Amino acid sequence: LEKVPSDIEIAMAQTPKPVAELATEIGILANELESYGKYKAKVDLSILDRLAHRKDGKYIVVSGITPTPLGEGKSTTTIGLAQALGAELGRPSFACVRQPSQGPTFGIKGGAAGGGYSQVIPMDEFNLHLTGDIHAVTAANNLLAAALDARIFHEATQSDKALYSRLVPAKKGKREFAPLMLKRLKKLGIGKTNPDDLTPEEINRFARLDVDLETITWNRVMDTNDRFLRKITIGQNSTEQGHERVTGFDIAVASECMAILALTTSLEDMTKRLGAMVVATSKRGEPVTADDIGVSGALAVLLKDAIKPNLMQTLQGTPVFVHAGPFANIAHGNSSILADRVALKLAGTEEGDSPDRVGYVLTEGGFGADMGMEKFCNIKCRVSGLKPDATVIVATTRALKMHGGGPDVTPGKPLHDTYTKEDLVTLREGCKNLKKHIENSRKFGVKVIVAINQFASDTEPELALVREEALAAGADGAVVSNHWAEGGKGAKALAEAVIAICEGESEFKFLYDLNLPIEEKISIIGREIYGGDGIQLSDLARQQVDTYTRQGYSNLPICMAKTQYSFSHDPKLKNVPSGFTLPIRAVRLSAGAGFLYPILGDMQTMPGLGTRPGFWEVGLDKETGRVVGLF
Ligand code: ADP
Repeated sequence: LEKVPSDIEIAMAQTPKPVAELATEIGILANELESYGKYKAKVDLSILDRLAHRKDGKYIVVSGITPTPLGEGKSTTTIGLAQALGAELGRPSFACVRQPSQGPTFGIKGGAAGGGYSQVIPMDEFNLHLTGDIHAVTAANNLLAAALDARIFHEATQSDKALYSRLVPAKKGKREFAPLMLKRLKKLGIGKTNPDDLTPEEINRFARLDVDLETITWNRVMDTNDRFLRKITIGQNSTEQGHERVTGFDIAVASECMAILALTTSLEDMTKRLGAMVVATSKRGEPVTADDIGVSGALAVLLKDAIKPNLMQTLQGTPVFVHAGPFANIAHGNSSILADRVALKLAGTEEGDSPDRVGYVLTEGGFGADMGMEKFCNIKCRVSGLKPDATVIVATTRALKMHGGGPDVTPGKPLHDTYTKEDLVTLREGCKNLKKHIENSRKFGVKVIVAINQFASDTEPELALVREEALAAGADGAVVSNHWAEGGKGAKALAEAVIAICEGESEFKFLYDLNLPIEEKISIIGREIYGGDGIQLSDLARQQVDTYTRQGYSNLPICMAKTQYSFSHDPKLKNVPSGFTLPIRAVRLSAGAGFLYPILGDMQTMPGLGTRPGFWEVGLDKETGRVVGLF
C-alpha cells in the first residue's frame, strides 16, 4: 500500500464544490438554502412539507464494536460508505453525522470528520464552530440557569407582594399576565386572568416557585473539557447577599437543550419540549419547569436557527448533514431526527419512480452498538417513528485484538506486535465482543452487516477470520472495506452488500415497553444488552426514581450514562464481561428531551483534559494561515 497522507493534508488538498451547487444536485431549492460561507449551509425545514408525499429512502444506522483507544473508524466508515453509494454506485446517498464537540477535539480524540480518503470537508470548519449550533445550545442552557438562580434570589429577598408587583408590573396603568404566566395559573388551577383578582394565598402560590435547593438538577454548560468546573460555588459576590450554592458545569453536548435539538421534530415541538424541561422540585413536591420560570420562549428564539440541519460534503462531493451532537456516553449519542428526515425525503421516491432511484441514508449511532445503537432504537426511533432497514457494525482487527487480551497502548510508544503482526489467537478471542454486538442488534429485529475497516497491517487470514466469526454469530453480511486508503472505491463491496440487505421490509422492534417501572427498564438494558446480572440503586437513585414516578415521569425511555469502553460500568472490563452488577449512582430526568438517565459508576458529565491534550498540535500555518494539527 502507498503511504496515505495525514487527514488534514488530504482534506486541505481538495477544494469543495460551492454548497449551492451541491444543494441543486440533490434537489434542494434555492429558497430552502441559507449559506454560511462558501461550503456550509442550513436547510429550511419547509423542505419537509414540500417533499412530504415522497416515500422515504432506506435508513441505515452505523455503529461499532466496543471502542478502544486504537479507534474503530465509525465516522470514517460512514463517510466512506456514503462516498461508495453516491460517487461510485450513483445512488442518492446521504451521511447524517453529529457535530463534534470542542471538548474531545482539543482533548484526546481529535476531530470527527472521518479520516484518510473518507472525510467531511472542510474538516476544520466541521470540527470547530460549524454554524454555531453548539454555541446556541450553550446560550440557551445558561440563560435558563441564570434565570433560575436569579429567581431563587428574588424570592428569597422579597415579600409576596413586592415579588408579585415586580413580576406583573403595571404598564400604562394596566397590569397584564405574560402568556407563560397564564399557563402557570392554569397549571396551579387558578382560573383567573386579571392580575388584580388574585387572593393573597393565590399570589403566594403563583409568585413563589419555592425551589427546594437540594433538588436542583440544572447545571451550567460549556463546550470545553474543563474538569475544574465539575463542582463550584456560585453567588459569592456581596451583591448576592450570601445566597451561595454548590453547583457545577456539564459539557454542552451532554445538556438537555442539545438532546432536544437532536430529538425535536418541528419548531413547535421544540418550544414545547424546552418549556417542559424540569430544573428542580418545589418545596411543595412539584416539578419546576422552564415554562414556570418564563424563559421557554426565549430559549426557542435562541435555538430557532440551530434547529435547521447543516449541509456539508464528503471528499467525493456527496452530501453530508451535520446536525446536533449529543455525546453517546452521557447523552443519547445520535445526530438529529430532523436531518435524518430531510435526508430520507431527499433520498426518497415518488410514485412511478423505478426502485433503482431509491437512496440511502447513513446515520451514526455513536460509540459501541450497546450505547449509540441501543439509544438510537429505544429513544430516537420512538420519537421519530422511523424504522432502520439495516445496521452496520464497524470492527477492526486491532480493536478486536485488544478485546481478546492485547495489551493497553501507551501514548508515545510504538504499538505492540500483536497489533501490527498477525495474531489469530488473540483476534479470535476478541471476536466475542463483535458477536455480542451482532446478537444485540438482532434483538431489535434489524439486519446486520459487519464492516471490517481495513488497516494496512491486517493480513488476509485475519480479515477472513473476522468475516467467518461475524457470519457464524448471525450477521447477514461481513465485508472488508478499504475506504480509508481508497475512498469510496474501497467501500464498493460494502455498499453493494448494504443495498442487497435493504431489500424487503424492516422487522424493527423496541427492547422494552415504556409502561414498565423505571427500575425494570434499566434492568432490561443491563441484562439484555450489557450481559450484567442485575442493577444496584444508590439511596439517592432510589429516592429520585420514587420522585419521578410520583411526578408522572416513569413512562419515559432510558438513556444510560455509562463508559463506552466496556459493556459493563467498568472501563477496564473489555471483551464480554459477565458476573457484574451495575451500580446506579443517580437517576436524572430530562423531561423536555423525553428520557430518564441513570448515571452508572463514576461516569462524569464534564470530561477533563489530560497531561498532553490534542491542542498541543493545533495551530495556524505561518505561510498559508491554514489550520494545522487537527486530525
Ligand atoms: P470513530 O468514529 O470510531 O471514533 P474515526 O472514524 O473518527 O473513529 O477514526 C479515528 C481515527 O482513526 C481517524 O484519525 C482516522 O483517520 C483513523 N482511521 C480510521 N480508519 C482507519 C484505517 N482503516 N486505517 C488507518 N487509520 C484509520
